[in-house]
Amino acid sequence: MGATLEIRNLHARVEGEDIEILRGVNLTIKKGETHALMGPNGSGKSTLANVLMGNPAYEVTEGEILFEGQDVLDMEPDERSRLGMFLAFQYPVSIPGVTVANFLRHAINARMKAQDPESKGISIPEFRRLMKAKMDMLHMDHSFAGRYLNDGFSGGEKKRAEILQMAVLEPSLAILDETDSGLDIDALRIVSEGVQALKGPDLAVLVITHYQRILNYIKPDYVHVMFQGQIVESGGADLALKLEENGYDWVREKYAVPAE
Ligand code: ADP
Ligand code: MG
Repeated sequence: MGATLEIRNLHARVEGEDIEILRGVNLTIKKGETHALMGPNGSGKSTLANVLMGNPAYEVTEGEILFEGQDVLDMEPDERSRLGMFLAFQYPVSIPGVTVANFLRHAINARMKAQDPESKGISIPEFRRLMKAKMDMLHMDHSFAGRYLNDGFSGGEKKRAEILQMAVLEPSLAILDETDSGLDIDALRIVSEGVQALKGPDLAVLVITHYQRILNYIKPDYVHVMFQGQIVESGGADLALKLEENGYDWVREKYAVPAE
């Protein structure tokens, strides 16, 4: 079976700067699998998420990113998103005056028009049905759809909006990058329960996290450790437990390249 995501020997740097942040990343994620990417702060985890979604702040200097067999390196972020890649942003923006429902309907319509320029978009009744079904699946109160997006949202509500967006857009790859400070318990629960509810044979998930905590809820099939821009260790869920117990010191000792 083909891989959802295949990253081969990926090298990247901040656009216009000399220092490489990603130094040869290899990672394959198949349909239905959940992978966790862990690692000390500054190891390049968020950079990888950004590069995957095509953030122009970063420049790929070598290697490949294949999404469902297609090379996405020359694609704009919105094109990648229309293909089915979804990145839950670490710091979502707020859009005053736009409700959660409007925002989501716009996102769906943009995707439909991209696939078929003749498309008139989703009808209002159809959209209402879809929203309700997804909100029920995520145990969300329907009033949430009428709130202004991220305007005065708590951390937990921002995560809720993000997960709802993911549910409605039905991506085939979800990348979740968690803040290094960690989510509060409420937000953590929302994210994990949401992902758990959306997991299925067609969804590949990449959870990026510094801490093991979220992995108590989102059970990964594979765990990878990133250090200095490379994936240095890969294993099963037990690798996350080892990191929880022993921290990252052993990773640093084993893989640190001495300064010249
Ligand atoms: P992680 O998410 O694992 O904590 P990051 O990907 O955020 O790591 O950062 C990896 C390294 O790259 C850090 O040293 C960070 O300072 C640097 N870096 C990342 N993005 C930028 C940027 N836009 N400009 C300058 N340095 C950056
Ligand atoms: Mg990060």
